[in-house]
Amino acid sequence: MAERLPVVVQLPAHSALSGPLSYASERALAPGTLVRVPLGKRETLGVVWDGEAEPGPGEVRPVAAVLDGIAPLSAAWRQLVGFAAGYYQRALGEVALAALPPQLRELDAAQWQRRLGRKARGAGAGDAAAPDPAPVPAPSAEQAAALARLRSEAGPFLLFGSTGSGKTEVYLRAVQELLAADPAAQALVMVPEINLTPQLQARFAARFAPLYGPQALVALHSGMTPAQRLASWLAAHAGAAAGGARIVLGTRMAVFASMPGLRLIVVDEEHDPSYKQQEGARYSARDLAVYRARQESRRAGDPQHCRVLLGSATPSLESWHHSRPAAEGGRYQRLAMPSRIGAGRLPAVRLVDMGLVPRHTQIAPALVAAIAERIARGEQSMLLLNRRGYAPVLGCASCDWKSLCPHCSAYRVFHKIDRSLRCHHCGFAERVPQACPECGDVDLAPIGRGTERLEEHLEHLLAHVERPGAADGESPRARVLRIDADSTRRKGALEEQLARVHAGTVDVLVGTQMIAKGHDFRRITLVAAVNPDGALFSSDFRAPERLFALLMQAAGRAGRDAAQGAASEMWIQTAHPQHPLFAALRRHDFPAFAAAQLAERQQAGMPPFSHQALVRAEARTQQAAQAFLAQAGADAEALPGADLVSRYPPVPMAVQRVANVERAQMLVESDSRAALQQFLAAWQPVLHATRRAAGIEGVLRWAVDVDPLAV
Ligand code: ADP
Ligand code: ZN
Ligand code: ZN
Repeated sequence: MAERLPVVVQLPAHSALSGPLSYASERALAPGTLVRVPLGKRETLGVVWDGEAEPGPGEVRPVAAVLDGIAPLSAAWRQLVGFAAGYYQRALGEVALAALPPQLRELDAAQWQRRLGRKARGAGAGDAAAPDPAPVPAPSAEQAAALARLRSEAGPFLLFGSTGSGKTEVYLRAVQELLAADPAAQALVMVPEINLTPQLQARFAARFAPLYGPQALVALHSGMTPAQRLASWLAAHAGAAAGGARIVLGTRMAVFASMPGLRLIVVDEEHDPSYKQQEGARYSARDLAVYRARQESRRAGDPQHCRVLLGSATPSLESWHHSRPAAEGGRYQRLAMPSRIGAGRLPAVRLVDMGLVPRHTQIAPALVAAIAERIARGEQSMLLLNRRGYAPVLGCASCDWKSLCPHCSAYRVFHKIDRSLRCHHCGFAERVPQACPECGDVDLAPIGRGTERLEEHLEHLLAHVERPGAADGESPRARVLRIDADSTRRKGALEEQLARVHAGTVDVLVGTQMIAKGHDFRRITLVAAVNPDGALFSSDFRAPERLFALLMQAAGRAGRDAAQGAASEMWIQTAHPQHPLFAALRRHDFPAFAAAQLAERQQAGMPPFSHQALVRAEARTQQAAQAFLAQAGADAEALPGADLVSRYPPVPMAVQRVANVERAQMLVESDSRAALQQFLAAWQPVLHATRRAAGIEGVLRWAVDVDPLAV
C-alpha cells in the first residue's frame, strides 16, 4: 500500500501553487529526505516535507527515486526555509531548492550514490592558504570584555567596533571557544562579498587547520564550481560528529547551509547591502541569521544554545536601533570596541570646499599636492569615485543628442578604452559613432566623469611627480592603477591587482566602492572621496547611511599601521562642507550620525520605525504596469491587516525602462510587521488573480520585495 507524501519541488515561476505536491511512495520517507520526482514530462529534485499530503481525488504519481545515504534535512532547516518562503512571499519549493547546491538537481539516484561513495570532503576553504600557524594574540581589554559578554549573555549581539579594532579576532576566538567546548558544534561565518573571502579564509585556516585539520573549514559561495559547492554542502550537512565541517565560511547563500551542530553565526559587515538577495526570493541573510539562531536556541530549550554575532564599524540603522539599551526597548546586546589595535588612530578627515576652487575642477590642487607628497614619501593613496567608465554620458556639442540607450530610460556610459557606449542596465554596447547621429557634427564630448577619466586625469596631474627608489631603467613616474568592475572582469584580475597594491608597485589606486571594502592595505596613508555629494540629496532615504558607511570604511583603509596612523588622512571633496554627515564623519562619530538619521526617520515614519514592502511590476507599457498595481491595490481594501497597512499609488521605478520593459512599483507600509505580513500573505492570491483579470494586459512579471533596501 503506497503512502502519500508531501514533496516540495521548484514549480514554474508564477505558478499560483506554492505549497508541497503529493506523491506516492512504497516506503515511508522521513520529512527532509531528498527524492527525485516526476513533474510534467521531467524528473526533478524534491524534498519530502512535513505534514499530511493533500488528500485530493485520484492517483498521484510515485516518487521516482530516493537519494538516500545522508541524514534527512533537519526540522530546523525546514522551518528556516518555511519561514523564509512565508516572510519573503515566495513559493516554498523555490526557496527550498535554491537553498540546496545546484548540482544536487542534476544527479540521478545512481550518480548520487557514486558521488557519496567518494570521500566526502569540503572544498577548498581549509587549504586555500598554506596554514601558517599564526601566533594567537592575547585579547585586548575591549576584545576580552566583548568575549566575556558573548559567553554570559544570549544575544543577538552587535559587535560595534572601529575598523582595525580587532573584530575578526573576536570572531576567531568565539569560534575557537565554541569548537573546543562542544565537539559536535559548528559555526557559520558570513561575509558580504566573495572578494573578501580569501583574506578571511586564510586567517581562519591559519587558526583552525592546525587544530582540526584543513577539512574542518569549508567555503560556500557562488564563485565556486558546482562540484565544490556540493562537496562543501555535504561536509556541512554531515556535521562535526561524522567528520564533516566545523566551520562554514560563506556569502549570503550560506545562511541556508544545512548544519546539524550549528551553534554560532557570525555576520561580518552586517550593514552591507550584499546580504540582501536582489532577485528571486529577496531575503536578507542577516535577518535570517538572527531568526535562525533564535529558532535553533528555542529548539534546544536554551537561549544561549545558538548565538548570532553581527559585526560592523557602521551598523545598519536597523541593527543599531535594535541594540539600543534594553530599558528603551532594545533587543540586541551591543558590544563596543572603539579603539584600534596597537593604538593606531583613525585618519584625520579633511573637507575640501569645492565651492572655493574653479568650476569643473576634478581634483583640488591641495589634494593633488597631498598625493604628490605621499608619492615622494613612498606611500600610497586611494581615490574613490562611484562611477565606472570614462564619462556617464556622451553628448553632441551642436545639438541635444546624448548617448541615451535605445532600450532603457538611461544614458549609455562612454568607455574610452575601447571607444564604446555601454548601457550599464541592459548591457547594450556599440562603438562610439564617428559623428552625431542626429546632426552629423563630429564634435562629441564626454559629460561628467567616471573612474577611467579620473585615472587619465590623475596621470596627467602627476606627470611631473617622481617617485623615489625607481630602479635603473625604470620610469620614475607615479604608477596609477584603476580597480573597478571593468578592470576586474577577467577571472583572477582582481587578485593580481590587489597583489600589486600589497607589493607596493602602485602609488595611487583609483576605483569604485569595490576597493573601499575590507581589504587590508597597509601602506595607504591617504584616502580621498572625489565626488560623494550625490548621496546627500538622493531620493533614496538610505543613501546617507550608505555614504557614511562607505566613507568610514574607506577611512579605515588608511593608517592601519600604527606608525603611519598619525599621518593618515581622509580627504573629501564636497560642495557642502557644512553638512552634518561630514561633521559626524570628521569626528568618526557613528553614534551621532545614527542618532540624527534615526530622529529623521522616526519623524518621517520610515524604517526601522515602520515596515515596508514593494510590489514591482514589469510590462510592455508603463500604463499597463501601473494599472496592474493600482487594481491589485484597490482589490486589497478588505484584506486582513489592510486597515493597518498604507498603500501608496504606483510610480515608475527610478530607471523606468530597462531592455524595453517598463517597470513600476508600489510601496506598502505599516507600523506593525505582523499586520504587514498578514496583509501580504492575503494579498498574494489577489495579485495572482489581478494579473489574469479582464482589462489587465501585458504584465510580464511581478514580485514582492519585503524590507526592500532601495525604495
Ligand atoms: P577588524 O576586523 O576590526 O578590522 P582585525 O581583527 O582585522 O580588525 O584586527 C586588525 C589587526 O590587528 C589585524 O592585523 C589583527 O591581526 C591585529 N589584532 C587583532 N587583535 C589583536 C590583539 N589582541 N593583539 C594584537 N594584534 C591584534
Ligand atoms: Zn548633434
Ligand atoms: Zn540599456
